[in-house]
Amino acid sequence: MLKATLAAAMSILLAGTAVAQAPAEVLFRDVRVFDGKSDRLTAATSVLVRGNQIAAIGPAVVATAPGATVIDGAGRTLMPGLIDAHWHTMLIRPSPEQAIFGDLGFTNLLAGAEARATLMRGFTSVRDLGGPSFGLKQAIDLGAVEGPRIWPSGAMITVTSGHGDFRMQSELPRDASQALSRMEQIGGSMVADSPDTVRQRVREQLMLGASQIKLTAGGGVSSPHSPLDVSAFTLEELKAAVDAATNWGTYVSVHAYTPTAVRRSIDAGVKVIEHAHLIDDATAKYIAEKGVWLSTQPFLAEEAQPFPPGSSQYQKKQQVVSGTEVIYGLVRKYRLKTAFGTDILFSEAQARRQGSLLAAMTRWFTPAEVLQMATSTNGELLALSGLRSPYAGKLGVVEEGALADLLLVEGDPIANIRLVEDPERNFRVIMKDGRVYKNSLQ
Ligand SMILES: [Zn+2]
Repeated sequence: MLKATLAAAMSILLAGTAVAQAPAEVLFRDVRVFDGKSDRLTAATSVLVRGNQIAAIGPAVVATAPGATVIDGAGRTLMPGLIDAHWHTMLIRPSPEQAIFGDLGFTNLLAGAEARATLMRGFTSVRDLGGPSFGLKQAIDLGAVEGPRIWPSGAMITVTSGHGDFRMQSELPRDASQALSRMEQIGGSMVADSPDTVRQRVREQLMLGASQIKLTAGGGVSSPHSPLDVSAFTLEELKAAVDAATNWGTYVSVHAYTPTAVRRSIDAGVKVIEHAHLIDDATAKYIAEKGVWLSTQPFLAEEAQPFPPGSSQYQKKQQVVSGTEVIYGLVRKYRLKTAFGTDILFSEAQARRQGSLLAAMTRWFTPAEVLQMATSTNGELLALSGLRSPYAGKLGVVEEGALADLLLVEGDPIANIRLVEDPERNFRVIMKDGRVYKNSLQ
């Protein structure tokens, strides 16, 4: 008897819950769709969002959702939210000194402010390639802070003196009895000099929630001790990282500019190469043969630099800038699976040009190819995290069943790619996960 009463009460409760949680519907009426894959917009149609998913597309859906909140597109373009495949949510607004030695609360608040700005630029997802972004991600997912979806790598893993080792020379030699350096304590980067240590550091990032692992396989621009031409990890160390990540259902991405660093990484089983601006023709061919992803960036001569002229970082930046033309030429030649990212560091002003950097890609690709890269192609790259992806569902496309990350654009971005340079004016509606974060039509 009691059991039956309880069951009845439960069913009433559950029914009540179901009604209360009926997913909200938003209907984009009279829009032309860029679906993330096509070379052109569709004819005028309508798109229905239910909850956090795209539920239906077509002129007839209008009649099926009488209770939906209607956004009248008036012939504007509806497209997937943009994705930046190489981003550092924690390292845009602070200076390098602030990021490493400054107050952590301050750094997190700066990152929260930047996360909102990133979302307002139409970037609804970012793949974070290094930095302590787990807390920010949690706050965004909770709705406490507005920002993009984050695929965190956590701390980037480096060798002693490698890219990401920001210690001072006075901190050497390292002694096992010493505390970790400041950059390690805050989860910015971790030093590992043997396969065992690499494995441990990888597993630590995975435990923290990393959706992929980032290693620095060669020298880099912003780090003080690493020349650009050097190789960092041994093959065995790289393999240790790949093993640990693969066991966990995800993959390793490496920072690498040179042929040696790229080849060794591929031989170790690395799935994604970041940058590669200094590779040669044979290495590009190798990337293509192995079906490895390239996640590279348009480092442009005319873009402002955060590094003071005369510094070693400035000189290194010039060197990779000169490789930008080369790498996109090789991408075209070998049809490499190529993601779009910006890798902006230590400059809020530069971050405001995130959309401009995307538009600049038309030096090498058609506007449709550029937009496909920043949406469906980047979405495919995010999906490499498999079950370790923090967000279940398809991204970078407008299709039934995909997650509802959408932009309503004032005009046709395929006909005029420069629309993405001014998101404040041209992105009239910004939706992430079915929720409207901006609507300037009202
Ligand atoms: Zn980076």
